[in-house]
Amino acid sequence: MRVLLAEPTRIGRTIVSGMLAQEGYTLIPVDTAEAALEALQSDEDIDVLITAIEFATMSGLELCWEARLHADNGRPLYVIVLSSSREEAKLVEALDSGADDFINKPPNRNELLARLRSASRLIQAQRQLIRFANYDALTGLRNRRSFFEELDRMKDADTVRSVVMLDIDYFKQVNDRYGHDAGDDVLREVGARLARADRAFARLGGEEFAVVLAGDGNKAGELAELIRNVIASTPVETCAGPLAITASVGVAERWPGTEFDQTMKNADIALYASKSAGRNRVTISASSGGEHRQEIRHALVA
Ligand code: GH3
Ligand code: MG
Ligand code: MG
Repeated sequence: MRVLLAEPTRIGRTIVSGMLAQEGYTLIPVDTAEAALEALQSDEDIDVLITAIEFATMSGLELCWEARLHADNGRPLYVIVLSSSREEAKLVEALDSGADDFINKPPNRNELLARLRSASRLIQAQRQLIRFANYDALTGLRNRRSFFEELDRMKDADTVRSVVMLDIDYFKQVNDRYGHDAGDDVLREVGARLARADRAFARLGGEEFAVVLAGDGNKAGELAELIRNVIASTPVETCAGPLAITASVGVAERWPGTEFDQTMKNADIALYASKSAGRNRVTISASSGGEHRQEIRHALVA
């Protein structure tokens, strides 16, 4: 575990460092609340913040608030406040400001280690919850919710993006002929091939997948064609034997100032065009916003 220690006094930092030495923790000591915030922003892997309440400028309470904001953004972070008996009122405030636990100053070694073990258990549980909420259990890819959250975070992006949307062809027949387990094997393997092409691929539901890429539709179309080929060229090993699988793909551009909702609709229309043109192909939507009539460019037809 990575432990950030925000403590203004050198002696305080030395005491905690000594207690955590050789316990398998990586300690990052800082002497101001500002330095602690900076560390939290730049180091995504910090699991625990141990903080004093009093600092010369920004208070430990504000630091607790800020740390809680980080944690609420889907990042597990456990905050322990170091407080002396004189600071009891502040301690209550610190807990109300988002601290998870406290320990008396000067800390007792066994107590500190026990609190860190408890922090570790909670962080593991929190990580698992975040995983369940954002990843698809069958394929291990990001799920629909995570994908749409990403679109929301990108809504103010000022450079061109493209959505690649993919749907497995005649997948219902795989289930009907070879059984649901063989269908699941196909989904897992297609998911694995997509993840190798781009780790950001998400499973939107059923046998439909999508990814957002930087760059225009032609560039995204090249990756889409690569993926189409990677799926079609090698049969998928399933519990019912190897199965030849293909997928249809739709690509749409999103220019700054237009809604991703519209881009998703354009990608969906392009995907539908790939299906009606015979499947196992990529279609790039010629429209980058909602204002144009949909024109479909069949690119890189198989
Ligand atoms: P098209 O080529 O037009 O896309 O036809 P399709 O058969 O692929 O499409 P359709 O939407 O008719 O069928 C999708 C099927 O996917 C229906 C559903 O039972 C199956 N499905 C959805 N989720 C899962 C899953 O998690 N596992 C399995 N095995 N099947 C699933
Ligand atoms: Mg399908
Ligand atoms: Mg479908």
